[in-house]
Amino acid sequence: MTDSYVEINLTKLTKNVRAILEKYPDYRSYIGVVKGDAYGHGMRAVKAFHNGGIRYFAVSSLEEARDLRSYDAHVPVLCLEPVAIERLQEAADLDLTLAIPDIEYLRAMLESDVKHSFKLHLKVDAGFGRLGIKDKGEIKEAVHLINNSVHFLEGIYQHFATAGIFDPHYDNQIRRFKELTSLINLREIPIVHLGSGVSLLAHPKIDIATATRMGLIMYGYNIGPSSYGSSVKDRLRDLRDKRNQRKYHLTETYKDIKLDLSPAMSYKCRILQIKDVNAGEYVGYNAEYRAEELISIAVLPVGYNNGIGHANYGRVVEINGKRYPIIGEIGMNMCCVKIDNRVKLTDTVTILGGGISLGRFSRSSGLGLAEVLLGIGKNNERVYLK
Ligand SMILES: *Cc1c(COP(=O)(O)O)cnc(C)c1O
Repeated sequence: MTDSYVEINLTKLTKNVRAILEKYPDYRSYIGVVKGDAYGHGMRAVKAFHNGGIRYFAVSSLEEARDLRSYDAHVPVLCLEPVAIERLQEAADLDLTLAIPDIEYLRAMLESDVKHSFKLHLKVDAGFGRLGIKDKGEIKEAVHLINNSVHFLEGIYQHFATAGIFDPHYDNQIRRFKELTSLINLREIPIVHLGSGVSLLAHPKIDIATATRMGLIMYGYNIGPSSYGSSVKDRLRDLRDKRNQRKYHLTETYKDIKLDLSPAMSYKCRILQIKDVNAGEYVGYNAEYRAEELISIAVLPVGYNNGIGHANYGRVVEINGKRYPIIGEIGMNMCCVKIDNRVKLTDTVTILGGGISLGRFSRSSGLGLAEVLLGIGKNNERVYLK
């Protein structure tokens, strides 16, 4: 066994997807997002998701699509980012669905001499401000061009900039999407997908949507919003939300959503050394940590080389079901934990998973949720559990 390793539970991936499809049955298609090497879980995850009922996937590049095809030769796969025109033959060979981000790309694609009838999804920029067409005349023109070609306009989509948790951007983007598609007949396009996981959980189904994309939730993380506590500050936040709700006529927001998800990834390591540190001695870079009394520490074989980031804002690990604090700055390949006499050299340390939730890890490392999964999943040996 390597000094540190990522465990991926494939059964949990399958169960997560089943739970989602059961709770949200009203879509024609569910597009499983497996970019970033399936959020660090490895493309093998595709088989587990397929077993759970996912019949459409999305990736970010030809390389990811090729990797996916080694696990599933036939399932439809949308490449969310435009494939370079000079590589369209590769996309054809992989039978990919192409995203169309603008008219110029569409024209170049239509003029290419690749002999293949592609499925196309038009990307609309309804306020995210990244890829996509943001002119309704151009959208009409794009639909016209595609309908008069050998290709098939299978989908149209956009991405939300915010989760719409009491901010007006979410609703503005829905309105803008409808306005931008007002010159075409949306009903003629089979797959209309606007939102990702958090919109599925936090808001009612968008009337025009026939599909939804989802990432994090499939891997086991309930990213829906929670209710505030009962402190004065929390009650003021609640009042502010209710005021915004009325003022901007916001879509309803669901909190504390019950959904049976469990994280499929955990990250574990062995201990390299256990030692005493005397009162007044320091631990690690910049002599940032000073022992105030005699303590014991465990040195772990894990650092930012393993994708966990270098910051330590009160991070903890779990050993035999108990939490212990990481002390000092995290190095490239090592970090130190303050332990007690219950910890033995042969114990296994859990860095993510068990009692260390992704949310806690994210806050204390200063990394985003998906960033944590990618960092850990892509930089360490993976072990798959069935
Ligand atoms: C990454 C991505 C998703 C998945 O988002 P989650 O928040 O993980 O559900 C959906 N749509 C697009 C366009 C994406 O890039």
